[in-house]
Parts: sequence; C-alpha cells; structure tokens
Amino acid sequence: MPDSLRSAIRDVVDFPKPGIVFKDITPILANGPLFRRAIDLLCETTGGRKIDKVVGIDARGFIFASAVADRLGCGFVPVRKKGKLPWKTRQTAYALEYGEAIVELHEDAVKPGETVLLVDDLLATGGTAAAAVKLLDELGADFAGISFLIELSFLAGRSKLAPHTVNSILTY
Ligand code: AMP
Repeated sequence: MPDSLRSAIRDVVDFPKPGIVFKDITPILANGPLFRRAIDLLCETTGGRKIDKVVGIDARGFIFASAVADRLGCGFVPVRKKGKLPWKTRQTAYALEYGEAIVELHEDAVKPGETVLLVDDLLATGGTAAAAVKLLDELGADFAGISFLIELSFLAGRSKLAPHTVNSILTY
C-alpha cells in the first residue's frame, strides 16, 4: 500500500517556482482508501505512546494531523503562520530559501508534560518543523515523535530535528 500511496503523489515541476519539484498530495486526499491508508500509517508512528495532542503545521499538515487526532481520540493543536491565531501566542522565525517566515502557537495549546505527536505532510529542509519543535519545547511538550507522510531525504531536514524521533511513510 505504501507503493500505491507513492504512485498517487503527483510531481509538479517548477512549482511554486523554477527548480522546485512539488509533491502534490491532493490525489491521495481525493481517494478514500488511500487517504485512510495514509492516516492508518501515520497512526502507527506513535511508538506505542498515548498521545495527548496531535500538532499539525499550517496548512497541509492540518489535513493529516486532524484526521490522526480523531483516529487516536486525542486533541488537535494548530501551529499557524503569523497573524492567524486569535489568542496569546508564542512565535518563532525561521529561514526560508529567500527571507524568513514566522509560525505561532497558542500559549495554552499544550500543557507542560503533555505527550505530543507533531505531523506535517512533507519534510524538506526541516526549517518549518524545527520552528514548531522550538515552540512546543518552550511549552514543555513531551515528544512521542515527529511524523511526515513524505520525506525528501536528500535535503537532510531530519538532522534539524534531533534528538526527536522522526518517522516518514514515503522517502525520496
Ligand atoms: P521545510 O521547512 O523546508 O522542511 O519545508 C516544509 C514545508 O514546505 C512543508 O510544510 C511542506 O508542505 C512544504 N514543502 C517544501 N517543499 C515541498 C515540496 N517539494 N513539495 C511539497 N511541499 C513542500
């Protein structure tokens, strides 16, 4: 089944800019059995730990993280791009290829010692996930792991997430 997930991912060349091969996951989302299988596999990355909160990263991470949270019967927490969260937030900046971006987390989104599983669709350079990890570490989260549907291993993003456990379903 990971093979059918892999073959459903559409490579879009030069999107959103020249030189990027964008991994389009919408064909997986549009296929009921494949979407379910993706969620099944992500749910197997908890390391057997009881999860209090599944944390998703804006925006495609929300799709997977919220479904995983529902399946595990636990809460969902969004890490959002700057300016979207209404309550008191913590924020951190991280480097993009050109310039920087800011992500935010509600201050009360995770209580100290709560067990979290961080989920996003894709690990590229690891900057986005590392920023989310920093915010969650500041709140005292206990990491069960960080899980991705897709990992672009040639970008070595995993090295930015040490010492946390990183799981990916499909590696390129
Ligand atoms: P990074 O911070 O470099 O690990 O980038 C990860 C974020 O950017 C994820 O939230 C992805 O959704 C998105 N992203 C980066 N590269 C790609 C790609 N080649 N295809 C699809 N999404 C990507």
